[in-house]
Amino acid sequence: MTHITTSLCVRDRSCIEVCPVECMVPGVPKEEWPWIYIDPDVCIDCGACIPECPFLAIFPEDEVPEAFTATGGEFISRADLTGKFEGHNEAGDVVVLNTTKELKAGEVVDLTDDIKPNYDFFTDGPGYSANDDDDGI
Ligand code: SF4
Ligand code: SF4
Repeated sequence: MTHITTSLCVRDRSCIEVCPVECMVPGVPKEEWPWIYIDPDVCIDCGACIPECPFLAIFPEDEVPEAFTATGGEFISRADLTGKFEGHNEAGDVVVLNTTKELKAGEVVDLTDDIKPNYDFFTDGPGYSANDDDDGI
C-alpha cells in the first residue's frame, strides 16, 4: 500500500521534510501537477506526513474517501479547475493556485479520483526530476 495526496493539497509544504524516505515531490509545472505527490513505490506507510498536513489532504490509499463532505471553505485543486486560491506555505511565501475550486458546506467530492495521479506523476509525469525545477512555491 501507499499513502496518497489528494486534491485538498494546496502546496503549503508542511509534509515534505518529515518524510523519512524523501518520497514526497512538489509537482511541476503546478498548473499540470498541482500537488505534492507521493511515490507509491517508495512510501513505507509510516504515516508521519498525515498529522503535518493542515489541510487534511493525505490518506492511506485504502482510506481515501469516496464521498468527502466539505465543511465549507476547503479548496480542491485539479488541473481542469479554474478558480484562484491564495495562501502561504510554511516558509511564508505566497502561494497562488489558479486550478482550484472552493467547496461549499455539504458539498460532496469523490477523492478516490486523486489516487491515480500519484501513480501517474512517477510513471508518466516528471517524477523526481521535478525536484530540479522546483521554485519552492
Ligand atoms: S506515509 Fe511516511 S513514507 Fe509515506 S509519504 Fe508519508 S511520510 Fe513519506
Ligand atoms: S502538508 Fe498537505 S496541503 Fe501541505 S503540501 Fe503537504 S499534502 Fe499538500
